[in-house]
Amino acid sequence: MTANFDIVVIGAGIAGASVAYELAGDARVVVIEMESHPGYHTTGRSAAIFSEAYGPAPIRCLTSQSRAFYENPPDVFGQHPLLTSRGVLYAARDDQLESLEALRCNLSGNADMRMVDAGDIGRLSPLLRPGYAVAGLYEEQASDIDVNALHHGYLRGLRRRGGEVIVDSQVYSAERRNGVWILSTRRGTVEAPVVVNAAGAWADELAAKLGANPAGLVPKRRTALVIAAPEGANPDRWAATVDVDEQFYLKPDAGRLLISPADETPSAPCDAQPEEMDIAICIDRIQRAFSVDVKRVENCWAGLRTFAEDHAPVCGYDPAVEGFFWLAGQGGYGIQSAPGLSQLAACLVSGKSLPDGLEQRGFRVADVSPLRLRRRTEVVES
Ligand SMILES: Cc1cc2nc3c(=O)[nH]c(=O)nc-3n(C[C@H](O)[C@H](O)[C@H](O)COP(=O)(O)OP(=O)(O)OC[C@H]3O[C@@H](n4cnc5c(N)ncnc54)[C@H](O)[C@@H]3O)c2cc1C
Repeated sequence: MTANFDIVVIGAGIAGASVAYELAGDARVVVIEMESHPGYHTTGRSAAIFSEAYGPAPIRCLTSQSRAFYENPPDVFGQHPLLTSRGVLYAARDDQLESLEALRCNLSGNADMRMVDAGDIGRLSPLLRPGYAVAGLYEEQASDIDVNALHHGYLRGLRRRGGEVIVDSQVYSAERRNGVWILSTRRGTVEAPVVVNAAGAWADELAAKLGANPAGLVPKRRTALVIAAPEGANPDRWAATVDVDEQFYLKPDAGRLLISPADETPSAPCDAQPEEMDIAICIDRIQRAFSVDVKRVENCWAGLRTFAEDHAPVCGYDPAVEGFFWLAGQGGYGIQSAPGLSQLAACLVSGKSLPDGLEQRGFRVADVSPLRLRRRTEVVES
């Protein structure tokens, strides 16, 4: 069976779902997903934090650009807010004050960050051991994201706009004939002039199937655990607490605590699983910093955060392969930035002007273009 579309998006995580939704207003769009349910890989495994202070400059612009969508999404995203106020505290011990100062300087344009002292820290993050952190940066506007509502809102909206999602359908091979991609999948052949690569950890592998050079993306495993809050504590109003050198974080999660050792272990693309050693490191770091005795891990998972060398996303047409568009390398920020990044990607796919307000934030398309990675490689080689 052969089906024809204007655009094929490969991967139904948050990247694929969001860009497909944005494109479906003007084009016949299909999303091809190899798993039986969208979101099985990294999208379903995040910590669900929205922080305009987190990530490299292009991500911070795209995350800020996303706020308007999060706060006023189309009806298809449901009645419940996509963001819930949380606050993020970047906490520093006295031997980490240089890191705190570096973070403060790096974020100097970000008006919503403020320095806090030990007294504030005790109120914002009451579980931190007294005296552990001496100073911090606090982002009051940081929020929890309802990732499921966001992701499924995009998929629902895509279908309402006439788009399709085909699951259980890995793309095995591709060839381009007369300006059209012909993709072989487990469920038949799909044809379209444009392919969007939203394959997450598999993005470089997919690129090779379409004859493109890799972008040098590296999937890195990160582990998360859920533990009980101390008896009698109500963590709902506590800030998420991130070690300023990103050695761990702790976030209240529906009455429990989500904790992570903030590991970044390079991995081949796979169904990532937590390692015993990372779980042990996580518990050790959390118990050193917080007054918590981890007796039982209630839930535990790992996921792959996929990075380009400079940690900025890869968004744009491949410079050498016609009709092949990259939307990959979202790293640890792919949920918070999804509305802004997908609107940008949809404009670039269709050759439209950039979304209103994005350049005013200091955003430059060149900083996310696949071309920048090729230039870097050329500089290194010469
Ligand atoms: C522990 C952890 C915490 C995180 N916390 C946050 C956070 O707080 N805030 C935030 O913004 N981000 C966070 N992230 C990062 C965020 O989850 C990712 O940036 C985002 O989910 C990436 O989405 P994606 O769609 O690119 O990838 P994925 O969700 O992995 O989707 C890619 C899809 O492509 C499919 N695919 C691959 N190859 C093929 C093929 N050949 N054919 C068909 N389908 C294919 C895969 O099956 C997969 O479903 C976190 C990640 C982890 C692991």
